[in-house]
Amino acid sequence: MKKVNSTLACIYRTLGWFPVVIINAIVVWSYFAYVIILCFDIVSNELERGLYLVFFHLFFVMFMYSYWKSILSSPGFVPSQFFFSKEDLERYENSENPQDVVNEIAKGLPVVTWAVANSARYCGNCYVVKPDRSHHCTMCGRCILKMDHHCPWVNNCIGWGNYKYFILFLFYAILFTMYVALSSLKYFIQFWTAHSSKKSNSDLHILFFSLFLSIR
Ligand SMILES: [Zn+2]
Ligand SMILES: [Zn+2]
Repeated sequence: MKKVNSTLACIYRTLGWFPVVIINAIVVWSYFAYVIILCFDIVSNELERGLYLVFFHLFFVMFMYSYWKSILSSPGFVPSQFFFSKEDLERYENSENPQDVVNEIAKGLPVVTWAVANSARYCGNCYVVKPDRSHHCTMCGRCILKMDHHCPWVNNCIGWGNYKYFILFLFYAILFTMYVALSSLKYFIQFWTAHSSKKSNSDLHILFFSLFLSIR
């Protein structure tokens, strides 16, 4: 059963890269729309173009850095001392009241939060005594310290180890999209009010996409 669970978790994790690929494709596309189309093709004033490019890259780098740190950082896994030893596992599996065995193991561990009836919290999938505020993630197939949620957009759990990067990612995502929306708004309005002969289908597509992304 444990092997089936870990195989399923592995499949979920692999399929889980799909939203990450989508986000990155959108970001690459928005980079092209803003830098190449807006800054180099549309903006004619060199000072304006320079300022747009500097601020765009500043927000872009911070956004992508915090995004990839949220993806690649470990969310925080349970330390080895909380895992059942081989003897503990044997006692747990052969006992008529496994909770008593777990309670005994937990007494020697730095755990403050106990469940109802003064019973230690434990995970029957990972065979660990759960440290305070940790939870089992079915997508990751393991227990995560201070688990907040499993985020499909970063294909990772958000927990003790990457919570800071995730909050920064949300903050810079808002900053980045607001900046792109506000700085391209003038040209977006100009584009729609320009004579139709000046428009090309590709420009229309890219500008619309750029603004759509920015206010999403
Ligand atoms: Zn677990
Ligand atoms: Zn997870």
